Amino acid sequence: MATRSRHPGFQPLGSPEDIQRGSLQLRGIVFDMDGTLCEPQNYMFRQMRTALSITKQTDILDHIHSLPEPEQTEAFRKIQDIEREAMQNQIPQPGLAALMEFLDQCGLQKGICTRNFDAPVEHFLEKHVPNHVKPFSPIITREFKPPKPLPDGILHIARAWGAIDGGIVPKGLGLDRFLPVVMVGDSVDDMAAGRDAGALTVLLRSVGKGQSEDLAIDERTDVVIDRLDELISLLEADSQLTDYNDDDVPDFKRPDSKYLLIAFHDTNQDIDIDVADMLFRL
Ligand SMILES: [Mg+2]
Repeated sequence: MATRSRHPGFQPLGSPEDIQRGSLQLRGIVFDMDGTLCEPQNYMFRQMRTALSITKQTDILDHIHSLPEPEQTEAFRKIQDIEREAMQNQIPQPGLAALMEFLDQCGLQKGICTRNFDAPVEHFLEKHVPNHVKPFSPIITREFKPPKPLPDGILHIARAWGAIDGGIVPKGLGLDRFLPVVMVGDSVDDMAAGRDAGALTVLLRSVGKGQSEDLAIDERTDVVIDRLDELISLLEADSQLTDYNDDDVPDFKRPDSKYLLIAFHDTNQDIDIDVADMLFRL
C-alpha cells in the first residue's frame, strides 16, 4: 500500500507577506470529540462490545452496518443507550476554552468529525463550550457515511470551508494532495482519516487512558500534544523557526521536541533536507 506524504505545514499565523511564499495558509481545525474535545471515556467502547458480543478486533460501526434489519436498529439502540449515559459524565479537555478563543481571534474555522451520534455532541457543546465561542461548523456525526478512518468526513468539512481547490471532493487517496487543514484526535482512526484526507494530523496524547503508546510514533501522526492549548504556541507567528540559522540551533532539533506547525521548507530554502525533515518527526 502506498504511503502518503507528510504534510508540509503552514505559514505562521499573522506572518508578514514576504515570508508567505509557497506554503499553505491554515483555514481551520477539525476536531474529534470523544477523547479530544472531552476526556476519554473508553469504558464506553468496552460496554458497547460487550452489548454487541464482539471482540476488540472488530470495528463497532462496521459490525453494526453489516447486520440485517431489525438487528441493526436494535444494535444502534444499544450503543446509543451507552453513549447517552456516558455523556452525562463528559469532562472537557484542559485548555479547550483557551484554544477555541484563540481560533476565533485568528478567524480560523473549527469543525467536528466524530463517530458518535448527535445527542452527545449537542450535549457537549451546550454544557462544556463557553457561549461566547463561535459555533463549530460543519459537525459530522454518525449519520455521515463513510465514517472515520475513511477521510470523507474531513474532506466534506474542508469543502464547506472552501479549502479544496475547485470545490470537488476528491475520491480516494491523493498522495500529494495537501489541505490547509489540521485534524486533531486521540485515536488511530483520527490519524488515518486526517492523513488520507491530506490534513496535518495532531495527536492529543492520553497514554494510560486506553491510547496505544505506539500512536505517538505512528507514521500517520505529524504532531503530538499533551493539552489542547499547546496548539496556540505551535500556531503563533513568532516562532523560533523564522529566526533559524546555523549558529543558533533551535529547540526543535532536539530529538524529544515537538513539531511546529508552520511551514519550513519554503521559507528557509537553504536549510539542508535532514534538518527540515526533523520538523516532521518525533
Ligand atoms: Mg476519540
